[in-house]
Amino acid sequence: MSNSHAARDIDTSRPHSARMYDYYLGGKDHFDVDKQAAEAVATAYPGIFTCARENRAFMHRATRVLAREHGIRQWLDIGTGIPTEPNLHQVAQAVVPDARVVYADNDPLVLKYAERLMRSTRQGRTTYIQADVNDPQSLLNAPELEDVLDLGQPVALSLNALMHFVTDAQDPYGIVDRLLGVLPAGSALALSHCTPDFDSPTWQKVTDIYTNSGTPVQFRSQGDVARFFEGLDLLAPGVTVGHRWRPDGADGDAADGHSDAEVSLWAGVGIKR
Ligand code: SAH
Repeated sequence: MSNSHAARDIDTSRPHSARMYDYYLGGKDHFDVDKQAAEAVATAYPGIFTCARENRAFMHRATRVLAREHGIRQWLDIGTGIPTEPNLHQVAQAVVPDARVVYADNDPLVLKYAERLMRSTRQGRTTYIQADVNDPQSLLNAPELEDVLDLGQPVALSLNALMHFVTDAQDPYGIVDRLLGVLPAGSALALSHCTPDFDSPTWQKVTDIYTNSGTPVQFRSQGDVARFFEGLDLLAPGVTVGHRWRPDGADGDAADGHSDAEVSLWAGVGIKR
């Protein structure tokens, strides 16, 4: 799909994951149908608001750690979501002003607001591609990608709260391999993923709500999330519950403030050898 697909493609007849996530984060870019489904999720799993906030806070910390400690200057962020300040490029450019970011999402509402993601600084460029992670080749072939990213230099692939929308039948591990395959040594994978590990009956209800509204989901165990990092050097502390991944207090994150069940999100960062 190209960026010329316009807002007319926005479907308000059923809930969409990006808009439900916007509701969890307290945003304004969703419709009644999304609010109703999001509230059904919150009734089954009141932790969803904490999960969404801690997911965002993990993205901030992982981005800063990669910029500060691993020399990353470029990001490919797939499943970006509706813009929420600070967006990844703002976090990265606060550390390295020349950071470059390519964003991609398949939701037309994200496309509609994409200009908020493309306010580049003088040194740091950003762009947005309307693309589906299930078709990694089209995403990688998009001319905008090579306009902004130098694939000869390390790139952090950022897949936050995305891969639980890719079921096993859609080959999630193969997709991540294909994406990492084009990136040079020193590149990174930052990934977060909701999990049923701490309360599987609750997460079955969440699964049913998404699936019944037309969005198949597959929440995975810690072991299955760790598989995404196979072959990479996993940074300490490994695949941990989101709020326990290097809390630094900057986002009001506090490792002891929430229970693991409330957060129910596995998160990790690995470096390609
Ligand atoms: N990464 C952001 C947003 C997560 S919400 C964050 O962590 O804060 C999940 C996002 O993934 C939504 O914006 C949704 O539209 C997007 N998404 C879901 N399935 C997708 C797919 N197959 N291809 C691309 N994006 C997808």
